[in-house]
Amino acid sequence: MFAYSREISHEWQRRTTLREYARGRVPADALCDADFLLRAAAEFHGAPSPRPCPICGSEMRDVSWVYGDALGRRSGTARDDSEIDALVAEVGPITVHVVEVCLHCRWNHLLREMTASPVV
Ligand SMILES: [Zn+2]
Repeated sequence: MFAYSREISHEWQRRTTLREYARGRVPADALCDADFLLRAAAEFHGAPSPRPCPICGSEMRDVSWVYGDALGRRSGTARDDSEIDALVAEVGPITVHVVEVCLHCRWNHLLREMTASPVV
């Protein structure tokens, strides 16, 4: 079991970015640039996002990336909740970044950063 704490939300940046896009100040291809690795991670390790893509309306995936010195080479990899659970149980608190990805138009955005810690 693990719990998230110390959440940093990037919703404000997301809204700002989308407002700039709506005003025509940012082209879609500058926002919809998810590379192959990110799309593959979203497809295989992501979970369905509660929101539709803000650019094309398609279903999105939320994918979690784990970071931490104690993770060694596993730092910077995409993981699902059960894998995060196992990693936290093994090494203690780790940092998790959640990125939403649209597999259709390749929109992607960092949603939040937080700390996953064991629940005792
Ligand atoms: Zn999209």
